[in-house]
Amino acid sequence: MDLFEYQAKELFAKHDVPTSAGRVTESADDAKAIAEEIGKPVMVKAQVKTGGRGKAGGVKYAATADDAHTHAGNILGLDIKGHVVKKLLVAEASDIAEEYYISFLLDRSNRTYLAMCSVEGGMEIEEVAATKPDRLAKVPVDAINGVDIATARSIAEQGHLPAEVLDAAAITIAKLWEVFVGEDATLVEVNPLVRTPDDQILALDGKITLDENADFRHPDHEQFVDQDATDPLELKAKQHDLNYVKLDGQVGVIGNGAGLVMSTLDVVAYAGENHGGVKPANFLDIGGGASAEVMAAGLDVILGDSQVKSVFVNVFGGITSCDAVATGIVKALEILGDEANKPLVVRLDGNNVEEGRRILAEANHPLVIQAETMDSGADKAAELANK
Ligand code: GDP
Ligand code: MN
Repeated sequence: MDLFEYQAKELFAKHDVPTSAGRVTESADDAKAIAEEIGKPVMVKAQVKTGGRGKAGGVKYAATADDAHTHAGNILGLDIKGHVVKKLLVAEASDIAEEYYISFLLDRSNRTYLAMCSVEGGMEIEEVAATKPDRLAKVPVDAINGVDIATARSIAEQGHLPAEVLDAAAITIAKLWEVFVGEDATLVEVNPLVRTPDDQILALDGKITLDENADFRHPDHEQFVDQDATDPLELKAKQHDLNYVKLDGQVGVIGNGAGLVMSTLDVVAYAGENHGGVKPANFLDIGGGASAEVMAAGLDVILGDSQVKSVFVNVFGGITSCDAVATGIVKALEILGDEANKPLVVRLDGNNVEEGRRILAEANHPLVIQAETMDSGADKAAELANK
């Protein structure tokens, strides 16, 4: 999950990374009020999850609260690379002597962490990376040893930060590493990391990507989820602990286990070639326990997608046997009632398959069509989606 700048700065504050005081808002009037509270010149900053806000006119200096009001009015609603500005950060403006760049990230190809640091930070960092790669230090970070003050100082030194600020920069860089590890981030980037005229070091921008696999360790990260931007069906699925990914096609896919669901997507896409090019509409893994409730929640999510024309339920009974799954499907259809309104092709196999098929046959629900094999089920579902 990518964070907004203001959220990244909340995590900076939690780990004592020095930054500028400010508050987030959605209105120009409130932006003015915040500027009045701060009582000094402020920066009005578009909160969108993309870089280059400064160049796009999304970051403005306001000497007075009235200026803050004017800038806020102009920036709200601005389209920055396809992201419409709905939120603003109004933060105390700092005096800047120099702008540096620092980041920590996961370097997958080298199976390590990486620190990147440059004395030439600011809005042209991509240019520096492309034309003067020697000015952007890339320092591998050992996961076990991490970044202590001495390592942080060395990173700053390799980034050619001036001697006068190495000590202060080292402290901040070490704290940024604490953010990276402590919050389970895969990216922590500060650009610019500024030097003030009195040689303080401040993080004036912040970009953090959190590793969602570690969410269970961070109940407080829940607050960072951008409800506005999340697909409502994905939100609903998440509430039921279902792994759901919305895709573009017409055949809803439900399976148990990520491997089976992924191969089902392939088989449906392949079958779709003979049926007008229909494709899978989603990825939905109901996991091991296909109870009636889980099945109902899964079907409810999929049937809520107006693009879905048919559903293919592909389950391999294991610990949860086929009869339990079949009972789950029958009960789910009862729970959903009229909300279930699209054909359901069901392929059961594995543990206790005969009993599972018998239960479905006996229930004889008008929407349910049984398939003997995965291929024939995918073909039937694709055919129905193309009607
Ligand atoms: P980005 O363009 O999306 O990376 O947004 P930034 O937050 O990095 O802001 C862009 C530029 O605005 C920075 O590189 C600075 O030059 C400038 N800027 C940001 N905050 C301040 C501040 O507090 N004071 C001053 N004088 N300039 C700032
Ligand atoms: Mn920046």
